[in-house]
Order: sequence, then structure tokens, then C-alpha cells
Amino acid sequence: MAPYLKEQRGRFEPQAAAVVLPAQTAQVAAVVRACAGADAAIVPQAGNTGLCGGAAAQDADRHILLSLERMTRIREIDRANFTLTAEAGCVLADVQAAAAAQQRLFPLSYAAEDRCQIGGNLSTNAGGMNVLRYGNARELVLGIEVVLSDGRIWNGLSSLRKDNSGYDLKDLFIGAEGTLGIITAAVLKLYPQPRHRASAIIGLLCVEDAVTLLGELRSATGETLVACEIMGRVPVEFTLRHTPGCREPFGSTYPWYLLIEAASSRRTDHLADLLRGALQQAKRERLACEWRVAELSTEAATLWRIRKGIPAAQKHEGGSIKHDVSVPVSRIAELIHRASAAALQRLPGIRPCAFGHIGDGNIHFNLSQPPGMNTDLFLARWDELNRIVHDIVADMGGSFAAEHGVGRLKPGEIARYKSSVEIDLMSRLKTALDPSGMLNPGVMIPPHSA
Ligand SMILES: Cc1cc2nc3c(=O)[nH]c(=O)nc-3n(C[C@H](O)[C@H](O)[C@H](O)COP(=O)(O)OP(=O)(O)OC[C@H]3O[C@@H](n4cnc5c(N)ncnc54)[C@H](O)[C@@H]3O)c2cc1C
Repeated sequence: MAPYLKEQRGRFEPQAAAVVLPAQTAQVAAVVRACAGADAAIVPQAGNTGLCGGAAAQDADRHILLSLERMTRIREIDRANFTLTAEAGCVLADVQAAAAAQQRLFPLSYAAEDRCQIGGNLSTNAGGMNVLRYGNARELVLGIEVVLSDGRIWNGLSSLRKDNSGYDLKDLFIGAEGTLGIITAAVLKLYPQPRHRASAIIGLLCVEDAVTLLGELRSATGETLVACEIMGRVPVEFTLRHTPGCREPFGSTYPWYLLIEAASSRRTDHLADLLRGALQQAKRERLACEWRVAELSTEAATLWRIRKGIPAAQKHEGGSIKHDVSVPVSRIAELIHRASAAALQRLPGIRPCAFGHIGDGNIHFNLSQPPGMNTDLFLARWDELNRIVHDIVADMGGSFAAEHGVGRLKPGEIARYKSSVEIDLMSRLKTALDPSGMLNPGVMIPPHSA
């Protein structure tokens, strides 16, 4: 069982009575019925790349870890309907490849794509690099198949783009982190495959300029802009220090960098020229200082390696206290200034390491320990620093769980920041769909509210 009893961040020590590996939906249903009869609880697990401990079973006597990794069939690809039906255990990269083999694009993409699985992607409503253009996982789903807590199977595998014939039940299960049902398959939306891509890295003097430039670039490049990531100098330095093959992008250094990608399926588009034109204009307006445009995929990969290397590079810099937060795009600069100042005031020497999906208002506002500080002493201040940052985020109308979800890590934040009405609605839904509380207990719903 050991490979299934690991947890990404080392914040939980998983334990389970058994690991079960069904290969078909009917077998998942049989497992659920057996567990209900034995008063056991089920913890679903997909690729186990989640960052909030949602797939970490916690009870050596009662928790049955249900892995869907053997359910890897692509049941159908409908080219004309631009849809693909995948089982929950399909690895995201395999789904992307199956779509590409049919000259179609499945746009969900991020650093864990060679391990995470469709069931986990939908259950966490995963985001990633391309949300700006294509939306979160939720926006990429037309239908799902779910095993309910009483063992019944709901075949909601609709491939319709229009269907207003009742409540949209699939949306209850997407982002529910395995607390309302077990997703066994999904009908996913496909898109035309891009023919051209171009990326650019841009050096900037302040975070305010990054927000303004993003708006200008969106206007100038239309719907071709698929990704826009921001990186502070601190995370860029981390990745340059610790990621093989990463180089300084420019001769000078800048406090902030934007990394953008444009993509188009139109034959006649010349994206690199489009980006250069927009950036020349931005320079005239004193928004962009310097940039490099990459047309070849190898050049682009070199630029993106800087961004993709940040999470791993941070681990080499000692302890890191994480915040996966979002605010309206227009307030990102305010968030970063306020949260950085408050963290530095509380712990001088702490290193705010802000990066992430600026196009979606989602910043990974991580706090790396002051150099030389004892890591355990630093990590002991996790809750204290979370409180400071999350209070600022809440004050700005933002979210304390932008894309990684709640899991076992943040039900307390739900209790603190969501309204009593919202918590009551969540608890009623949980009770309606899982009356005995056997599906992923301890995840998402704050204790004493279900
Ligand atoms: C390097 C790295 C980069 C990442 N980048 C991003 C990013 O850019 N954007 C982003 O959104 N996330 C990101 N993540 C977080 C993580 O990859 C996502 O949350 C992912 O969607 C989890 O998928 P998984 O298959 O690993 O699910 P797991 O971790 O196995 O499970 C996640 C949750 O879903 C539940 N679950 C799993 N399968 C099912 C099912 N079939 N039915 C019901 N419930 C189920 C589990 O119980 C758990 O609560 C990143 C993680 C890593 C390690």
C-alpha cells in the first residue's frame, strides 16, 4: 500500500485499512456498497498530486483508499462534436495526446500533467496555465458518470452543449473533492488544435505595470492570448539557482516578469509579429522595459522552464508557507503590496515569493523562510502567517483556495471565511448526497456543520 499512502507536501501521514483498485464503474459501485455495509469510509485517489491532502486516507481501521488508476479507457472521441469521453483514471497527458492524435486540443495543462488524472482534475476543478482562454476544468466538461454513496450509478455522460432541462447536476460533483460522489468518467470538450504558438518574457519595473500590460495585451492580441503568468524577482532567482538549463532572460534584472503565450489555429496568423507590435506599443507607453519573443518551440520551452521550475526550486530555499489565493485581476498589485508588507512586518527577513496565473487573478503567494532561520521554527508559524494573508485576501473579496481546493488542509478556513448561509447550503448538500458521511470524511466540510 505504501505508494498510495504518500502526500505531496508531507503535511499528513496517510493510513488506510486497504487500497482497492477497481477496473470498471460497476466494480466501483460494488466497493461503495460493500463499504456502506461495513461502516467503512472511502477516500478516492487519482494521481495523488493534490496539494491539500484530499486524497490522504487518515484511518488505518476505517478508511478504504479507492484508486481509479486502472480505469484508463478513452471510451470515445467524437471529432465532429469536439468531445472525448475518458475514464477517471486517464492521465491528463494521455488525454491531451489522444485529442492531438485527432487534430484536436484538450487545453487543460499544468506542471503535474504527466501524473494527475481526469477524476482528480475534475474533483479539484483544476486550473493551470490556459484558464485565461479556456477556463477551469469545470468549463471543459459536458457530462460525467458518478457512483453515488448508495452505490447507484448516475450516467450523466451527456455530450450536449445546450441542455436546460433541469438542475446542472454535474457541477455539484466537479470541485467537490470526492465528498459527494465518485466520478468514474467524463465527456470533455475539445478545441481546434493551434497551428502556431509564440511566447514572450517581459521585464517590468512594478507589479502595477504587469496588470496594465495584461489588459493592453489582451486588447491587442484578441483571443489568441492563452496564458499570462507573473513572476517576482525572488522566484526567478530561485529557479535560476536550482533548475538546470535556466538562464537569466536579459542582461539586466527586473523586479517583475510576465511570461505570455499566444496560440492560433488560423493559417494566416503571425503571432510573433503580433506580440512584437503589442510590446513596442507597451514600451512607448513605458509599461514594458525589455522582452524576448520565442517563436520556436525549443526557445519557448526555455522561457517556460523558468516558470515551471519555481515550485521545485523553492524547496531548495528551505521552508515555504503557501497561499493559493485569488482576487480580482485589477487588485493584484494591492494584494501583493499589502500581504508582503504585513508578512515582513511580522517576520523580518521573510522572502515573499509571488508568482502565478495573473490572467486569472490567482497568485501563489508563498513565503520562503528568512535565510539561516531554523526550518521547523519557521514552519511552526504556518497558521499565524496564513491568518495574516487570508485576512487581507478576504478583506479584498478574494478566495483563500483559488485552484488547489480545500482538502484536509483548509476546512477551518471555510468555517472562518464563508457565510453561515453558504456553509449551511454546503452541509445540506453533503447530507442529501452522502447521509452517512462515508465519502472522504474530513475533507472540505468544516467539522460540526454536516
Ligand atoms: C507540480 C504541481 C503543479 C500543480 N499545478 C497546478 C495548477 O497549475 N493548477 C491546479 O489547479 N492544480 C495544480 N496542482 C495540484 C494538483 O495537480 C491538482 O489539484 C490535480 O487536479 C489533482 O489531480 P490528481 O489526479 O492528482 O488528484 P488527487 O490528488 O489524487 O485527488 C485530488 C482530490 O480529488 C479527489 N478525487 C480524486 N479522484 C476522484 C474521483 N474519481 N472522484 C471523486 N473524487 C476524486 C481526492 O479524494 C482528492 O480530494 C499541481 C500539483 C503539482 C504537484
